[in-house]
Amino acid sequence: MEMKKTIFKRIIDGEIPAKIVLEDDDCLAFEDVSPQAPVHVLVIPKKEIRSLADVEPADAVLMGKLMMFIQKVAINLELENGYRVITNIGEDGGQSVPHLHFHVMGKRALAWPPG
Ligand code: AMP
Repeated sequence: MEMKKTIFKRIIDGEIPAKIVLEDDDCLAFEDVSPQAPVHVLVIPKKEIRSLADVEPADAVLMGKLMMFIQKVAINLELENGYRVITNIGEDGGQSVPHLHFHVMGKRALAWPPG
């Protein structure tokens, strides 16, 4: 049975628009549609992975690439004063889109702990 595409897969496939910040062969960064900080970007792998809890050993290189890609996004967006990277996992984690994504937030002082 074919699974329904997630909204992020539809962005990867160019079926719905997004404000792309940075892209390479494996990773995509785009602006969050409901920003919670002056900079709020989502970084996703183009490979369909449900969440961080679903990453497999074969994804280890990809995960490293994603971390380096986040660093590049932060440099491009001039977040030298600091920023936060968050990934929500599952229901209690508050994950609403079942495609692994990292929120990159900055350009304001962020409170801790999150709610
Ligand atoms: P999470 O709650 O961690 O799963 O985060 C999902 C994020 O995706 C939320 O911050 C939403 O605002 C964002 N989002 C949902 N749909 C879109 C979209 N079409 N384009 C950009 N961001 C989106």
